[in-house]
Amino acid sequence: MTPGRPSRPAGRSAPKGATKKKGSSASRRGKPARGPAPIPAPPEYLARLGVHPRKALGQNFLIDEFLLSDIATAAVRDRTTTVLEIGAGPGGLTEELVRRADTVVAIEIDEELSSLTRTRLSDHRGLFVLAADFMEFEPVELIAESGAPEPHVPYVAVGNLPYYITQPIIRKLLECDRPPERIVVLVQREVAHRIVGGPGKESLLSISIKMYGEPRYLFDVPREAFWPPPKVQSAVVEIEAFPQPALDLTPGEITAFFHLVRAGFAQPRKQLHNSMVDESGLPRNQILEMIEACGLDPAVRPQHLTLADWERLFRDFIVRFPGELDTDPVEEMDGPPDLSDFGDFEDFDEMDDGDGDEDAADDDE
Ligand code: SAM
Repeated sequence: MTPGRPSRPAGRSAPKGATKKKGSSASRRGKPARGPAPIPAPPEYLARLGVHPRKALGQNFLIDEFLLSDIATAAVRDRTTTVLEIGAGPGGLTEELVRRADTVVAIEIDEELSSLTRTRLSDHRGLFVLAADFMEFEPVELIAESGAPEPHVPYVAVGNLPYYITQPIIRKLLECDRPPERIVVLVQREVAHRIVGGPGKESLLSISIKMYGEPRYLFDVPREAFWPPPKVQSAVVEIEAFPQPALDLTPGEITAFFHLVRAGFAQPRKQLHNSMVDESGLPRNQILEMIEACGLDPAVRPQHLTLADWERLFRDFIVRFPGELDTDPVEEMDGPPDLSDFGDFEDFDEMDDGDGDEDAADDDE
């Protein structure tokens, strides 16, 4: 335990340093507060390190040591598996990881923070902290460059991810030449639900992830567990990566497959045939015929389709409509909301809940 860190005997109440300051005197008197709420005072150990969070890099640090420990435990099952941590920040999670794994390669884009963490945790011989942008390199390249003694052993990826690039990071990990065995990440709770999907709750994101691995919702993380606290709740998810994609398709077919899935989710509140007709311009009767031939209800909505349903649709589609599907890569793994314009902690409020759920059943004519 780091001296001066907040500690709790039991339960999940917020550590003192992380609690949000009460509103201004104006808001306490019932008048609306003006402007964004001030960032609460940092917990003592971060204040001592002189850490100032940078909004633009999504620096909401996890300060609840019970949760840090839970994440590290979920990530490390075997000491000998290398751990690749994305976004180490001031090293709260890094510290828990190095206790459990022989080799931890921690990537941090902020040079000041990476150097601070390198110095603070210099007693741990198995820790390699790299100042780098994760998006610029192949994961195994980072492990090899770090100086880790055995860069070729299997690895797991873990991180309290900056929310604004959660999806590109996960996509990169799953689609790279040598994916991790497992990914354990702390993400915005709404995104966690979309990653995991489930009966009647599938999303473009969950179907994309299920092509490469099996996602599982692990546990919730309240906003008070961070400093500064984000506007939204978070959760930890795990993705157990498959040795190869779940569907037996060529790389070009996988690209075409995702164009079809994307078209199906283009208007998630609508019945599948409506989106498909709108997106493809193909005759409605033929699209309806295809959906029925695949054993699906013509009124089905995309969130009810499993990966296996999409595979049947895809195989039927390419026979009925050869050459209709693009084979250029799909740019983004998921549709709106576009997380890239994140610029302020307050912006989290603006995000769509994106659950594509039954609340939308009226959207079809
Ligand atoms: N792991 C720390 C924790 O749990 O408190 C920090 C998590 S904070 C949400 C995300 C961290 O990712 C920040 O320190 C940020 O600077 C870093 N980061 C943002 N973009 C990055 C990138 N492209 N590559 C590597 N690190 C990045």
